[in-house]
Amino acid sequence: GLKAGIVGLPNVGKSTLFNAVSTSAKAQASNYRFCTIDPNVGLVDVPDHRLAKLAELVIPDRIVPTQIEIVDIAGLVRGASKGEGLGNKFLGNIREVDAIIHVIRCFEDENVLREEGAINPVSDKEIIDTELQLKDLESVEKKISRTEKMARTDPKMKAELDVLLRCKAHLEQGKSIRGLDLAKEERAAIADLFLLTEKPVLYVANVDEASMHTGNKYSEALKASVANENAQVIVMNNSIEAQIAEMEDPGDRALFMEEYKMTEPALNRLIRSTYKLLNLYTYFTAGVQEVRAWTIHEGWKAPQAASVIHTDFEKGFIKAEVIGYDDYIQYGSESAARDAGKLRIEGKEYIVKDGDVMHFRFNV
Ligand code: GDP
Repeated sequence: GLKAGIVGLPNVGKSTLFNAVSTSAKAQASNYRFCTIDPNVGLVDVPDHRLAKLAELVIPDRIVPTQIEIVDIAGLVRGASKGEGLGNKFLGNIREVDAIIHVIRCFEDENVLREEGAINPVSDKEIIDTELQLKDLESVEKKISRTEKMARTDPKMKAELDVLLRCKAHLEQGKSIRGLDLAKEERAAIADLFLLTEKPVLYVANVDEASMHTGNKYSEALKASVANENAQVIVMNNSIEAQIAEMEDPGDRALFMEEYKMTEPALNRLIRSTYKLLNLYTYFTAGVQEVRAWTIHEGWKAPQAASVIHTDFEKGFIKAEVIGYDDYIQYGSESAARDAGKLRIEGKEYIVKDGDVMHFRFNV
């Protein structure tokens, strides 16, 4: 499955956030699945209003959202790339994730220990970035030394070496690889390194309660510092999220959120943004047994999309009946959409669109 890892300095609110995510997943799980793979890994539903809309029309026995895996990666500290505080082990965990949720402390609280002096989101972010960049530098330098000799005689290796040298120079300037302008074929030269700073990132500005709708000077400073990264900053209060997640009674939860003028938990925003960050598409299947969301990548063709449901679906694929989400909602049912000529029969070359409601025909 797809994984996002929560990183950040100690005491910035990572576990609070992770607990909120896994508690709320557990609370919703009365209907369907939640599992804790290990204490630091949780599977969480991706909130999607389209799923509920479809379910209103179909009235299925169950609703199954799509999920992503969230990993709490504790233990990143200054010096981690040099092995401080089990740093290497934690950096290894980051290598396995598809996206990074970087939590940054934007709240004051003298009861919460802090080793880095006055609250400073910009330098906190840089500390973590630097550790990841140093680790990447190590990987890039290793590959450079493996490549150099061959590059003298092999033009293909020479091209690879050039890319590696550009990465090295970029990292040495204290910059992350995700910001380096590389062509697709050039990226292939570093794909095997699974560089930490190449992974897409989003920032959580963990602000105090009073600032959760407005942000504060700290979250503003953070936003300004990442403006050139084209990365999202989610302003939220992790403690409040944890409290919402712990409320079992939906009425209590609604009341609590109303008190804080929230229309939904900020977690929903975070999970949706993470999903977007991963460049994922969702298609739906809608029947009376279940209405379900399925995750695919942009550009997948119908047979590959079908394989997410069952591997045999790809081999045995014959055709797909497709109704666009908006058409489905407009006409209110599969049969009404069909009568209106909005049900399309698509073949093997069809590229599935986000929101398609699909029905696969296949041989078994
Ligand atoms: P981690 O080390 O990054 O995982 O941090 P924790 O989630 O364990 O939080 C460290 C401490 O900060 C705990 O005592 C939390 O209760 C507290 N904390 C977390 N989020 C907030 C917040 O938004 N405001 C305040 N005042 N305290 C928070």
